[in-house]
Amino acid sequence: MDLLEYQGKELFKRFGIPVSEGRVATTPAEARKAAEEIGGAVVVKAQVLTGGRGKAGGVKLADDPADAEQKANDILGLDINGHIVRTLWIESASDIAKEYYLSITFDRGAKKPLFMFTTQGGMEIEEVAAKDPDALVRLHVDALEGYQPWIARRLVYGAGVEDPGEQKQIADIIGKLYRCFVESDAMLTEINPLIVTPDGTVKALDSKFTVDDSALYRHEDVAALRDTSAADPLEALAREKGVTYVKLDGSVGILGNGAGLSMSTVDVVVTAGGKPANFCDLGGGGNAQGVVDALEVITRDAQVKSIFFNIFGGITRCDEVARGVLEAVERMRIELPIVVRLDGTNADEGRRILAEAAPPNLHVEPTMLDAAKRAVELAA
Ligand code: GDP
Ligand code: MN
Repeated sequence: MDLLEYQGKELFKRFGIPVSEGRVATTPAEARKAAEEIGGAVVVKAQVLTGGRGKAGGVKLADDPADAEQKANDILGLDINGHIVRTLWIESASDIAKEYYLSITFDRGAKKPLFMFTTQGGMEIEEVAAKDPDALVRLHVDALEGYQPWIARRLVYGAGVEDPGEQKQIADIIGKLYRCFVESDAMLTEINPLIVTPDGTVKALDSKFTVDDSALYRHEDVAALRDTSAADPLEALAREKGVTYVKLDGSVGILGNGAGLSMSTVDVVVTAGGKPANFCDLGGGGNAQGVVDALEVITRDAQVKSIFFNIFGGITRCDEVARGVLEAVERMRIELPIVVRLDGTNADEGRRILAEAAPPNLHVEPTMLDAAKRAVELAA
């Protein structure tokens, strides 16, 4: 489960990692009030579960409460990578002298938590890794040995932090972030940027935080955050309808039956040169109503330009699925192109049903790769 910036910062604060004072706001008036309470200049920040908010215009400085209200008005409702902004975090603005980067991820390959630290913060870490790999210090932690103070020293000296005041504060944050990571059952905690202010204070200006879903049962407070207004509305709708749905950033809507086939469908769309807009799994049943529900979720995403419907009939019968597709197209007046690939149980019957009805936006393809290519073309 991914946490919003302010939720992650709340956990940081609990573990003693320095963050700026702030308030949540959902309307421009609340943003103004928050800015009044905080005092001085503030930053108005979109709370959405996607990166690159700054570049997308979702992070803005405001000089005073009236300005904060205006900036809140600009940011609320923005679409950032398909995520509509409904919640804001208003925090006391910081002066920035330097931007560093610090993270812990769970490295599944090594079966160990992995620290990454660099003084080249502020930009995407993938970019640092590509352009200046030596600037990025990576260090695994042995779970049995646990955290040791030398780990912080190795990271801080390795990245070339020279100021003793910074070294001490960053080492302290590194230790606290490790405790926060382990005790929260996190899979990822990232601070980008970890800033140094002109007076030499180090603090976390952003947070990215993923908690292991399988451990949520022992973090009731974190699990309770799931159903706030921050949840993606499409994912909420999908949960309500019992559809397994994950929003992605591309333009080809994907619908498969079974997690394995749906994941392969995501891969084959990428192979065909496209970008998946979502991952959606109908599950094993795949009755007509299930198809209608899934299509309802997918077609609500404005980024979707074509839909790739990939069904392998086992328990699922292809004729039943074909009826579901036709019913959904008619009932919801779907005009988006839909590419269908059916195989397995009653596939011939399913294809015949589709061919007879033949709505103009429906394209039946014989293989998964052909269908992927077609869907990618139609999304262009
Ligand atoms: P992201 O774009 O989603 O990673 O959002 P961030 O929270 O990292 O903010 C993006 C950028 O906005 C940061 O790298 C900073 O350069 C800038 N920014 C955020 N908060 C402040 C602040 O308090 N003061 C100043 N001067 N800049 C800020
Ligand atoms: Mn950031």
